Amino acid sequence: MPIRLHNSLTRSLQELKPLVPGKVTMYHCGPTVYSSPHIGNFRSFLFADVLRRFVEDQGLQVTQVMNVTDVGHLTLDDIEGGEDKMEAASRKTGMTAWDIAKKYEAEFHDCQKKLHFRLPHHMPRATEFVPQMGRIIDDLLQKGIAYQQNGNVYFEVAKFPGYGKLSGKVLEELEAGARVAVNEEKKDPRDFALWKVDPKHQMQWDAPFRGGVRGFPGWHIECSAMSMHYLGPQIDIHTGGEDNMFPHHECEIAQTEAHTHKPFVSIWLHARHLLVDGKKMSKSLGNFFTVEEVLQKGYSGLELRYTLIRVQYRQSLNFTLAGLDEARASIGRVQGCRQRLVRVRDGLERAGGEDLSAAVAAANERFTAVLSDDLNVSEALAVVFDFVGLCNKAAASAAGAKAALAAFARFEDVLGCFGGEPKADATGDAPAELLALLPVRKAAKQAKDFATADRIRDQIAAAGWKIVDTATGARLEKS
Ligand SMILES: [Zn+2]
Repeated sequence: MPIRLHNSLTRSLQELKPLVPGKVTMYHCGPTVYSSPHIGNFRSFLFADVLRRFVEDQGLQVTQVMNVTDVGHLTLDDIEGGEDKMEAASRKTGMTAWDIAKKYEAEFHDCQKKLHFRLPHHMPRATEFVPQMGRIIDDLLQKGIAYQQNGNVYFEVAKFPGYGKLSGKVLEELEAGARVAVNEEKKDPRDFALWKVDPKHQMQWDAPFRGGVRGFPGWHIECSAMSMHYLGPQIDIHTGGEDNMFPHHECEIAQTEAHTHKPFVSIWLHARHLLVDGKKMSKSLGNFFTVEEVLQKGYSGLELRYTLIRVQYRQSLNFTLAGLDEARASIGRVQGCRQRLVRVRDGLERAGGEDLSAAVAAANERFTAVLSDDLNVSEALAVVFDFVGLCNKAAASAAGAKAALAAFARFEDVLGCFGGEPKADATGDAPAELLALLPVRKAAKQAKDFATADRIRDQIAAAGWKIVDTATGARLEKS
């Protein structure tokens, strides 16, 4: 089934047709590592993770790159103003910009593990790709598309007619926005920096291009250089948050295409902002959460992951703590169902006669269809829960349980938000002397000796276990 995705560039659904058949290249603008990762960043990163998992599920070989921005990202990048976020953090904390980068990059990787990411194949740091950026800057200077003023290098937007095609911003709009920042050096207020000179900046390099001055790179050129290094001049999919579309991605297109003369990206995808309690997340509103803060409230990485992926990436997603409780219950429903199926498959619970093959095939087919339709994770979760309902009602045969478990394993492989296959008893097998009481209780109930049945139940409860009655018999769970 073809995978169709909403391309921000054409503003329409587009079939994913890899440039090299069978292989898909994906680039994601990664974190700027100047503070602890917050949940708002992770909606977009997790969307990219689920996309990669689904593309792989469909038999395509993915090469995924997510960069780490550790230099050049300005606090007011939309108007080419402010200061480097790393430097600002350094000023506030007294740590060096290099130590800030190291600390928060490590925190980011830790969050990736806790949120069950399939790790990207490459996670390059911008500071390690300055020579590659220099080669592009040098080429743009040679072609007369970039110019140098007092050591700063600017991209001349007027020389790239396609500027504005991604964000849809028209010339007048761009000029009006750019007028906010008065910069006498620029030929046109829309021009953006490829290289900056600032003797006070902590992260500095000798100019990696001819005729340049010691300085540091602009944020936009970093992604062009790193994506080209790992994935070549043209890539299949580029993602980011909706706030990356302008100016960052617009500038990436301009630099890269002016350098290569080839269309840079086949499909651009942008995830919507995360809302928290119905509002944009901000420290001043008190609705700002780092990943670690959520986990410290006692929620698991799976529960947070579930909460952040559960709505299709282009729809509004409102994060609340109550949503995490719902995630816990939803994951519990799936795992409870899988656990019963494991017991049937392994002969610990009496099997029924249903082989479930038609239901498994239908669920798999629907799961593929909804994810192929612009990665509709909300619908994919609905497919999973319908399947849970069906399995809970069915009297599965051992083979049927096995087939249903394989479907659940596939759903988990793509969504990654339920956890692995549970053991027959999630908390360890019940002691034999308690299990031996189950047939006694069953016989008592059949004989309508409810006093004995209740006494056995209490005895089991006193030992820390509870009886769960199912269609195929009773079992014990740790209470
Ligand atoms: Zn980027």
